[in-house]
Amino acid sequence: MSEFDLIRRHFTRPVPAGILGVGDDCALLPAAPGAWAISTDLLLEGRHFYADVDPRALGHKALAVNLSDLAAMGAQPAGCVLGIGLPAVDAAWLDAFAQGLHALAEAWGCPLVGGDTTRSAAGITLSVTVFGRVDARRALRRNAARPGDDVWVSGTLGDADVALRLLQRERGEAVAASGPLAEVLAGLAPEAAARLLASTRERLEWPQPRVALGLALAGVAHAAIDVSDGLLQDLGHIVAASGCGAVVQAARLPLSPALSALPPAAAWQAALGGGDAYELCFTASPAGRARIETLAARTGVALARIGTLEPQARGVRVLDAAGLPLDGVPAGFDHFR
Ligand code: ADP
Ligand code: MG
Repeated sequence: MSEFDLIRRHFTRPVPAGILGVGDDCALLPAAPGAWAISTDLLLEGRHFYADVDPRALGHKALAVNLSDLAAMGAQPAGCVLGIGLPAVDAAWLDAFAQGLHALAEAWGCPLVGGDTTRSAAGITLSVTVFGRVDARRALRRNAARPGDDVWVSGTLGDADVALRLLQRERGEAVAASGPLAEVLAGLAPEAAARLLASTRERLEWPQPRVALGLALAGVAHAAIDVSDGLLQDLGHIVAASGCGAVVQAARLPLSPALSALPPAAAWQAALGGGDAYELCFTASPAGRARIETLAARTGVALARIGTLEPQARGVRVLDAAGLPLDGVPAGFDHFR
């Protein structure tokens, strides 16, 4: 298959009227009032996914993590481009990958309008860039949080982290050995570990970007971020940018049934430090509580109020169920640490 056959077959789909998609030197998206919200994410084999991951899930996730950034800004998806480096051409793999990507693109009105395709000696390399639209005055910036705000988070946290640790263990890879979560997972019998992996794995491989929620929050929330590196670290970005601090109640962290069944200290570690959650963390005035609860019902995404912002810029502090500082709280993910 030639490069151009590959592009035609796997990456060319009809696009909405008014858009020029794959096939010319550039894609054309109509200019509209407001701002472009643009975000890009790189996914590397071995670092962000395993070579044997379900290719349909990989296509989904490559776009999902970018749509999550649009959601966190309160932006409406408009289109995306894909850079892909492949060691070899495997038509069945590409078919499944493209289906996963196109299905999510269609679901959120974010057509693939261009990209670049190349051979890569270094394993599968993916780069997706999304374009969205937002009224810049309503965009959910990280620096717009205010002391006294409530801190909210969507969905549940920690499942993807647990799934990743269990996959690493299954593959015999070195896993982080300290902390209550590592201890609990190390102590699980193989059948219990397999059950826990089965009930958490979907959150790792098929993240659902909170696009509708992000759009509904524009103009309601003050600041927002998507939880990609761990709640503590990501909420830490909000308070650092906004010049305030946060107090989070561990007992209010939203947990799936699978994580609720773990000892609290282990579940909290996953919820506070675990990456790849792709939930939205946002802050809003307490006066907006009723409105936010209505919008949770309307968008079908559960929202938990997990803490408050304080004027002192002391970072993020976490209190346990008794109101005492939770120590040994994990820091979250950093590629260069
Ligand atoms: P150019 O050399 O002008 O950059 P290419 O030959 O690389 O163009 O690509 C031809 C067309 O196919 C362009 O419209 C480009 O955007 C599109 N394209 C290439 N690779 C991909 C891909 N992986 N996904 C979507 N579109 C792609
Ligand atoms: Mg090119």
